[in-house]
Order: sequence, then structure tokens, then C-alpha cells
Amino acid sequence: MAPSDGPTARSNVEARYKVLLEAGRILTSTLSVEELYAALHEETAKVLSADNFSVSLYDQGRDLERVVFRVQDGAPQDVDLEFRGSDSEVIRSNHGVLVEDDAEKLTALARIEGGERACRSGIAAPLAHHGRVIGAVSVCSPEPDAYTSDDLALLQGIADVAAIAIDNALQFEEIERRRKEAERIEEIGRVLTSERDPNEVLGRVVEAVLDVLDVDGAAVWQRRGREDASGRITDSGGDIVIPVGTPWELADELEEALIAGRRPAIVDDIAASRLIPEHLREHLNGGSGIAVPIVVEDEVVGALVAGSRQPRDFGAEESAVLQRLARQASVALENARLHETLRALSLTDPLTGLPNRRRLQLHLEQEVAAARRGRPLTVVVFDIDNFKRVNDAEGHLVGDDILRSFAHVLVEENRAMNLVGRYGGDEFVSVLSDSDREGAKQYLARVQDRLESHAQLAPHDVSVSMGIAEFDSEEMQSVEELLSVADLDMYRIKAERRAQRASGTGTKA
Ligand code: GH3
Ligand code: MG
Repeated sequence: MAPSDGPTARSNVEARYKVLLEAGRILTSTLSVEELYAALHEETAKVLSADNFSVSLYDQGRDLERVVFRVQDGAPQDVDLEFRGSDSEVIRSNHGVLVEDDAEKLTALARIEGGERACRSGIAAPLAHHGRVIGAVSVCSPEPDAYTSDDLALLQGIADVAAIAIDNALQFEEIERRRKEAERIEEIGRVLTSERDPNEVLGRVVEAVLDVLDVDGAAVWQRRGREDASGRITDSGGDIVIPVGTPWELADELEEALIAGRRPAIVDDIAASRLIPEHLREHLNGGSGIAVPIVVEDEVVGALVAGSRQPRDFGAEESAVLQRLARQASVALENARLHETLRALSLTDPLTGLPNRRRLQLHLEQEVAAARRGRPLTVVVFDIDNFKRVNDAEGHLVGDDILRSFAHVLVEENRAMNLVGRYGGDEFVSVLSDSDREGAKQYLARVQDRLESHAQLAPHDVSVSMGIAEFDSEEMQSVEELLSVADLDMYRIKAERRAQRASGTGTKA
């Protein structure tokens, strides 16, 4: 039906000119595309019967026409329809079309099903900017002969203004999207480079992929070794989840792209592709997938994978984003590895600040060498009793405090020339240079006294088993032999005390 002021506007060139000016003013001042479509409908409806109104956008590269806005029988619709663009006369020819009483043509024009019933006449105009067709706008009416060629000219006039506004708005949206994406990636980079735990890093990368690419699933695949195309999923998230631990041996083509070529690999149709192993398919339900290599220290160590439930056209843009995230993951993994290496090379235990096992070993080697030349050497091994129970009952943080307090006691009771270190866990070693078993016993007695009166340790009822070994150059050759004698002594004492406690006759030390 033509709007009430239609006939006047139609017959009056001046009125039409005004309509176009007004449409131009409104359309070019609207920034969001959604608002633009609604404004386009509103302006069109002022001069033409527009109870059935559609706007579609055309992607030339994919020859895809997508309906983005529709009003049907006067009511706005949710639409998600795609057509081959070259099937549309309007898009193909970049010319307006007027159709009367041709159901098939009307269906094609209005891009709706059951065109015969809904429409008996219609017009459509291309949305073109700089000679490029970016979409189409159409109206149709259940009345026959509802439109004239003048109406088509008017619709074309409105479409020409709208095309500029829509193109601008789309570009603006794209720039906005990229700006947000860049910001998000930068923020992720900051978080990742400060993260030291490699597992934490991978978890965050997976979250970032889900967030930035808006995919349904993301995963990290890690290679078993340098020469291997087999590996497993080490992290995954999203609605589509491949369980962590799932083995995955890359098909030749994927290996060629990801590992040999260090290129992204895209699988458009997972359901039909030979590249995805059978056991992975059960976790995926069709759709499309993309993967890029993760390179650490110039070696492909794995891949970052993303997938969608619906078929999706993963292309250069998604590859670029995923590669940026994979690079962030690489830097973070490299940092984590470096940190791990440094820790392995370090000589200090981070929790207690004492010399660590490595430093103890180096020191003991020198001391054993001196002892073999005749200098007395005694070592004492300490192991906290039932420390697991303390951790379980009071938590690891309290456990850590106890370890620090105990370390402090050992250092304070030590003579300057001796070295005390954390051997591992709740086990400590004191190296008493130039000292014999008697000297060691006095040291142990001092430690024992301190434990019983210590403000932090006594309330937790901390008891410690201690074992002594004196270097005997006739019997012993190495550091290991010396330590194992001390260990045996400590375990013997621990077992005795456990037995005493069980029979209710034990004392604390
Ligand atoms: P036992 O009486 O036979 O010595 O038994 P235990 O419970 O003390 O156990 P064991 O010496 O075999 O093991 C030491 C425990 O210390 C294991 C671990 O849970 C805990 N542990 C190791 N390192 C740390 C640490 O850095 N902090 C905390 N809180 N606990 C630790
Ligand atoms: Mg213990």
C-alpha cells in the first residue's frame, strides 16, 4: 500500500527532491549500520509502499549476498539469509529493476520465500559506491502495479545516498573492530610476558583466541619431540572442547604446512576433510578450523588451533590474528623456559634463601676432597616429621612458614664456617667442616632447644629427625656415600621415634 502522502510526493518533482535531500541529511549523519538500515526503511516508507523492505550487502570476493535488514508485512524480522550474488539481476547489472506479476522474479528481487503470495509488484535498486556494488535495497507490495519507473528512480536516489553512508559506516565499524582487536592483543601480550608458568600462559592464550576471534573452540597442540608430527592437546577451551591429553598425529598435509612450512593451515569443512583424524571428530561437530604454528627458539613446538561450529570462511585476517597470538605465546613460553633454566642454574633455594641442593653438592665435593686429605668432616641431615600432615591440616602457606622458620634456626645455630642448605622438600643438610661427631651432637642439642621454645614452631608441635655421618676416608669415597650414611641414621631415628610414639612412650626429640 502506498503511504497517504505518496501520490502528492510522486507527482511532484520538487517534493521528491526534498525527500532525497532529507534522506541524504539523515542517512549521512547516522553512524551505526543498524541505525542506518532502520533510517533507510523509514525514509523509503515516506514516499513508497515499503511494508516489505529488504537491505542486503554484497561481498564481491565471495559472490555472497547477505540479507542484513528486513521488514515484512510491516514488522521487522530477524534475518540470516545468504544468496549467490551473481544470481541477482540488480547486483549483476548494477541497475534498478521493476518487476510486475512475475512470481519467480519477485522472489529473487525481494529475496523472500513465497514471493507470489507476499508480493505482486516490486522494485529494487543497487547500493553502489565508486562504481562498486556493495548491496541492494528492495521493496515489494501485495498490490499489482504498486510502483512506477519514477518510483524506481526515487528508490535509486535514496539508495545512492544510503550506499555512501553504509560504506562509511562499514569502514568505520571495521576500523573500530581492528582497533579493539589490537588493544586486546596488546593487553594479552602484557599479561603473558609477565606470566612465568607455561601452563598458565597456554590457558590464557586459549582464552584470548576465544575472545578475539570469536570462535567456538580453541586449543594448544604440543609436539612430542623435534622430529615428530605426533603430539597431544595440552590446553583447550570454548564450547567445542578437545580434552586435554588427546593424542593427535598431524596428517601429512598439516605437517607440511605447520611444521615444515611454518604456515597457517585451514580446514574449511571438517566433516568432509581427510586431514582430521577420526578420534578428534567426535569432539567436533563439523564446522571449520584453523591452526598456526607456535615457534619457540626457532623450532616449531606446537600449534594454536581454533574452530567454529558452523562453516566459517577462515582467511588471511583470522590467520594474522591467530599468528599474533601464537607469537605472544612463543615469547611467553620462551620466557618461562629461560626462567626454568635460570632456576636450574641457581644456587639458592627461593623459599628459604638457603643454599640449594646444587650448591650443597658443589660445597660437599670440596669438603670431601679436603676430608680425604685428613680434615675432619661431619654432615647432619634433618627431616621434619609428619610434615605432610601439617600441610594437609594447616595449608601449604603455613607449611612454607614452618620451613622458613626452621631454616632460620639452623642458620642461627650454625658456626660461620659451616654451611647449611635445603636439600629438598622438608629435608635440610648441615655441613660441619673441621668438626667431628661430638661437635655435631652439640649443634643438634642447640637446634633441639631452639625448636622447643621457638615462637612459630613450638605451637605447631614441629619435631625433626636428625641423622649424623662422619667422613671416614677408609670406608667412603664420595659425597653420595657420606650423605647416604647420614640419611640411614636419620631414618633409623625417625623409625624409633615413630615406634615410641605409637606405644605412647615417646618424647618429642
Ligand atoms: P616423615 O615423617 O616420614 O618425614 O613424613 P612427612 O610427612 O614429613 O613426608 P616426607 O618427608 O616424605 O615429605 C615431605 C613433604 O613436604 C612432602 C611435601 O608435601 C612437603 N613439601 C615439600 N616441599 C614443600 C614446600 O616447599 N612447601 C610446603 N608447604 N610443603 C612442602
Ligand atoms: Mg618429613
